[in-house]
Amino acid sequence: MCGIFGISDNKDASKLTYVGLFTLQHRGQESAGMAVDSKDSIHYYNGMGLVSEVFSNDMFQSFHGLTAIGHVRYSTTGSSNVNNAQPLFFNSYLGQTAIAHNGNLTNASALRAQLQKQGAIFQTSTDSEVIIHLMAKYHRSNIEDTIADNLNKLEGAYSFLFLSPGKMIGARDPNGIRPLVLGKRGKSYILSSETCAIEVVGGKIIREIEPGEIVVIEKEKLKFKKFAKPRKTAKCIFEQVYFARPDSVFSGRTVQLARYEIGRLLAVEMKDIKADIVSGVPDSGTAYALGFAKESGLPYQTVFMRNRYTGRSFIQPDQKIREFTAHLKLAPIRDAIKGKTIILIDDSLVRGTTSKKIIKNLKKSGAKKIIMAIGSPPITNSCYYGIDTPTKKELIAAKFKIEGIRKFIDADALHYLSLSNLIKACGNNRDKDFCTACFTGKYPTKTEK
Ligand code: SF4
Repeated sequence: MCGIFGISDNKDASKLTYVGLFTLQHRGQESAGMAVDSKDSIHYYNGMGLVSEVFSNDMFQSFHGLTAIGHVRYSTTGSSNVNNAQPLFFNSYLGQTAIAHNGNLTNASALRAQLQKQGAIFQTSTDSEVIIHLMAKYHRSNIEDTIADNLNKLEGAYSFLFLSPGKMIGARDPNGIRPLVLGKRGKSYILSSETCAIEVVGGKIIREIEPGEIVVIEKEKLKFKKFAKPRKTAKCIFEQVYFARPDSVFSGRTVQLARYEIGRLLAVEMKDIKADIVSGVPDSGTAYALGFAKESGLPYQTVFMRNRYTGRSFIQPDQKIREFTAHLKLAPIRDAIKGKTIILIDDSLVRGTTSKKIIKNLKKSGAKKIIMAIGSPPITNSCYYGIDTPTKKELIAAKFKIEGIRKFIDADALHYLSLSNLIKACGNNRDKDFCTACFTGKYPTKTEK
């Protein structure tokens, strides 16, 4: 998963893009980068690490330009190195172009093999690079038509930002799997993975880019174009479950409210369960637990102290230290736990190993019983669209039925939210066309398995 942000026609474009990327940091922490259209020439800079580590104050002294795009990366295909950091830059018949991609192309390996056979030399191991070679090889007289033609050769999930001299272009895949939102700030247009970044830079949200739509921003004007035949919309439901920031808006309401509603519906489904308190695994589980508490009348209680500073910079010097890092990240608050039957809510269960550790920790701290509640159905299939789920054989729900999972994590009871209630909560009674393939195995596109 990654985050993309771009802003047009603003003398502070690079600084605002920095703030936008900073706001989208939760979508990727491996690398960050930015490209700026500087007097008809594209300048770019990418580096490994957090946004605050990659860019320095000095850089902005020389990184001038009226339009900029940026990217934060969390790798799902391609290794974690600076070559794969985005925006990617290329110079072709159409001139200089930078691109930033969120999502995962499911036919990238086949396209790469075909292009290499025809002589293309790839510089990175990311799936995103195929669009560059396609655009260089199959071009029309202008960049927007070239983009539109070549997007039709891609399968999978993508939101793209393209920057070429004088133009910023955004595009979203025909199923709308990954998000892309349009905003405005004065005369500037903004494109962002999430609404939170538009609002943080002082912009107003206009609308989502529609599935299969391109928007061209040039000289303070907008031009929309459909590049693909309509397909079934399949927005990733995991954005609301786990990935997106609580203050971002999806389906007309904030992610926080959707999560609260998930918790409320969990309480409806679990109305006969008895417990002393309800709590959530931070961060997303907290909103679930608050919704559950409201519906059930059970008191909400914080049972963990979360250490927010154990990011990628936290080194684990040896095995002995590694053993207590789980406790270091989430430390139980003994007095809140002792002798209590706790309903503990988490957004999802992937391998089950983290929940197992958490439950062990709570029981060691004196919890009487742990009733585990999950705010989504069992994950039985891998994601091919840019969320880093492991292979099917590593997914605990692909191996065991619910009772087997309960035993593995050592919970006293285990309940998963039904798919229909998840869709109800995330869709806000207006959207129901979500991708739910990790729960159902029904993928909205062809996949390269
Ligand atoms: Fe999202 Fe799951 Fe679909 Fe992947 S498979 S896009 S995680 S809903």
